[in-house]
Amino acid sequence: MKILVINCGSSSLKYQLIDMDNESVLAKGLCERIGIEGSKLTHEAAGKDKYVAEKPMPTHKTAIEMVMEALQDADHGVITDTKEISAIGHRVLHAGMIYSDSIVVNEDVKKVIRECFDLGPLHNPANLMGIEACEAAMPGTPNVAVFDTAFGMSMPEKAYTYAIPHEYLEKYSVRRYGFHGTSHKFVSGEAIKFGGLDPEKAKVIVCHLGNGASVSASIGGKCVDTSMGLTPLEGLIMGTRSGDVDPAVLQFIMNKEGIDINEMLNILNKKSGVYGMTGISSDFRDIEKAKAEGNHLAEVAIDAFIYRVAKYIGAYTAAMNGVDAIAFTAGVGENDKAGRKAICEYLGYLGVEIDDEANDVRGKLRMISSENSKVKVMLIPTNEELAIARETLALV
Ligand code: ADP
Repeated sequence: MKILVINCGSSSLKYQLIDMDNESVLAKGLCERIGIEGSKLTHEAAGKDKYVAEKPMPTHKTAIEMVMEALQDADHGVITDTKEISAIGHRVLHAGMIYSDSIVVNEDVKKVIRECFDLGPLHNPANLMGIEACEAAMPGTPNVAVFDTAFGMSMPEKAYTYAIPHEYLEKYSVRRYGFHGTSHKFVSGEAIKFGGLDPEKAKVIVCHLGNGASVSASIGGKCVDTSMGLTPLEGLIMGTRSGDVDPAVLQFIMNKEGIDINEMLNILNKKSGVYGMTGISSDFRDIEKAKAEGNHLAEVAIDAFIYRVAKYIGAYTAAMNGVDAIAFTAGVGENDKAGRKAICEYLGYLGVEIDDEANDVRGKLRMISSENSKVKVMLIPTNEELAIARETLALV
């Protein structure tokens, strides 16, 4: 069975066609600059040359049509008819408090995605456009929505409730949701399997450290807490996002600089994090290079990033009254051995011990803790596309 996975951004569309018989990627690609001048499709199929098509893509509908053409192309394609695609799985950002699981799309589901536009203003409209474009291009093929917020819906009230007037939860659903849910669910599940842990009781902390970064705590694969909040701004220091700050900082800076709340939020989302702290880059590799060259701000940014991850791990260990496994994933988590080691050095009190030789690895599933470590520490490459395809398969 072949499943197409779609991840739509406001001006981009990533796709993968996965053969679920052996979970192999048949083809994958990216449409960039949708609705902007200079649109481009890049398509790669297993065992074939990379194919690039530069053609105007005024809408996501045109983008999907180009993806279908590429998938069926005589030279670069991997199918001869779109009927070979059994179902389409869509990454959807926000389901508010309505869905705690993936779901086959119908008119009610689309209504919920639309009702959550204000909770995910950049993503939900694009996600819905992707779904509607697929409905138009492949009528009759089931679409499944896989929500980033679904994993966080199992959090208890004490973890998701903000200490603000209760009426805002009642009236506007203001609470902690958490994001990267597909990745946290996938990685915590893999950690239980790989670590041979009790599937009902295992206490797992997943550190998804990429350009966007978040930590989750789960018991038996069910999320009990996570660092992102109503939006992905809360929690860890990220590439360009501040993570946790005293909310009064906003008013203070706005008054001093004479800027409004939109500009302030733009600064916290796009001009902060390690980028804002250093003025160098949002890419952790650039920050590490600058640190190695003696740049003090780069050193502080990396130290602060690591310190905050360690603080969250400590908090979540307390929240669960223990931890069986800590898993690192995403760009920084999978590639930065020094970062993993530095985070784990804060965790000696938990009996965490890293095996330096095992930790000398990138992007591979591996146990990186020593035999004596009281907590299993693992590198688990995330695979959000495969996770979406598995969720889709389970529903169709
Ligand atoms: P996202 O999906 O949030 O865009 P990724 O999970 O792809 O992010 O991670 C991207 C980040 O991973 C970048 O900031 C990049 O610098 C970082 N990264 C990749 N390789 C390394 C490395 N060897 N050391 C440190 N950071 C790395």
